[in-house]
Amino acid sequence: MANTCIVCGQAAGSGEHVFPASLGGRRTNKNIYCTKHDNSYARLVEELANQLDLLNALLGVIPDRSDEVKSVLARDRHTGEELRLSVKKSSLTESRVISRQREGAGVRMEMSFPNREAMKLWLAEQQANGIDVTPLHKPEEHPYFLGEVHHQSHFGGPCGLGAVAYVTQTFLAQAFPELARSGDIENFIAYTQAIAAVARIRGGCGAHTDGAPDPKLEAARQTLEAALVPFAGKMPVWWDFDPQPETRPNAFEFGHRVTVGVDAEDGQIFGRLSLFSSIHFGMCFGTASAAVETKAVTVDIDPMAAHPPDDIQTVQSASAIARVTAPTQPTAGLAAALANNTQEAPFTDLIRRIEAYSLAKVAAKMHVELAAYSTLSSVEGDLLIARVVDEQAQRVFNMVRWLLRDYKPRLPTDLLPALGPSIDSMMARDPNSANGLSPMANATLTLAKGALVTQIREDIKAGRLDQRRLEALMGEGPGAAVIGEIILTPVVAALAG
Ligand SMILES: [Zn+2]
Repeated sequence: MANTCIVCGQAAGSGEHVFPASLGGRRTNKNIYCTKHDNSYARLVEELANQLDLLNALLGVIPDRSDEVKSVLARDRHTGEELRLSVKKSSLTESRVISRQREGAGVRMEMSFPNREAMKLWLAEQQANGIDVTPLHKPEEHPYFLGEVHHQSHFGGPCGLGAVAYVTQTFLAQAFPELARSGDIENFIAYTQAIAAVARIRGGCGAHTDGAPDPKLEAARQTLEAALVPFAGKMPVWWDFDPQPETRPNAFEFGHRVTVGVDAEDGQIFGRLSLFSSIHFGMCFGTASAAVETKAVTVDIDPMAAHPPDDIQTVQSASAIARVTAPTQPTAGLAAALANNTQEAPFTDLIRRIEAYSLAKVAAKMHVELAAYSTLSSVEGDLLIARVVDEQAQRVFNMVRWLLRDYKPRLPTDLLPALGPSIDSMMARDPNSANGLSPMANATLTLAKGALVTQIREDIKAGRLDQRRLEALMGEGPGAAVIGEIILTPVVAALAG
């Protein structure tokens, strides 16, 4: 039975990832699809991976068969410039001119490049055009400070749900090879094939609206509609905004979970998928026609594990507790969630958890680096603290903005016209400066970093600088208080005067 493709019955053996590689899956299985049908789902998976890009980039998920952590293209809301973001760094994707002025017979320019390669390329281009370029000083590397970054990603939609259905179907085929080939889930397979065909056509997932729609798209959509007839015209997969309480928490922080199973009571073949332990889906594959034993298989997947064997944890049970109930209106859950804004809640909650995770990681790293303080002279020790804090300059700038934004609305309304603009200038960005900040914001940032350095030195000397204290200083109220005391002093003085 095994070793045949669950779609066409021909020999399987494509060795596809059971959980998509682009989402951090590390395991392959050669017994589920033939090469043709494995490839047929590629575009659908790509759509889901694109939708989850930002979350994967924030977490530092490494796609399988790649050494680079996930990065995502975004736009700086203030300057409109394109940025590439990942957990490791943010960088501009394009070279730009910061200033340009005539000087003698030439032009003096200040330039910024995303990296050294881009700079060399630009220099070579100028030379090829017969333009003499003399570097006036060695290139300097600056961090570029981000304001609010705008990343548009539409999660879900027919293609996103289709991809969720395909991923879970692959797990069903792995855990229940005979059931997957029994014909009992053939309508479900026809549906995933039909949505995959739509996704393969340009504009099928609604991504490219420029140009005329591909004429093949209409036919593919009709095939999809026909594939949904056995499901009364509704998609057999849905958002689950009210998931049952987990009897067992996910084995991994930010782990994904797939549950597939069958209930002997009525033959229901069910599936669930939870992404990052936060975004939940349910689906019904069909009904078992022959007698079956109740069984469920749950697989937890760690998207941040570098390799097997500690990347997954599988648990089998003889229970159908995870069986599903299809919503009477497939979009009812989504509509209600949109209406009372609960659709945002899992995302907001997830982003908050990711931020806490990244703060803890930063604090742990700083704690290790600062351990050398006790072995250094006081001058060297101060340099060490300054360097360690400077490495987190973006984080400090975020705290400055958070603090000022929180403070501004609390000013007495009669003082707002006078003090509002100076508060704004303390966090103002300047797209023409090398690091993206205005001179005033740079000065504020320097003050803020200095305040943190002083506090960290005091804490080390008092023996109270542990990792938890560093978390508090680098991203929570205590750090904001330390910064606020320094940068708000002029404002407070103005208030008193
Ligand atoms: Zn096949």
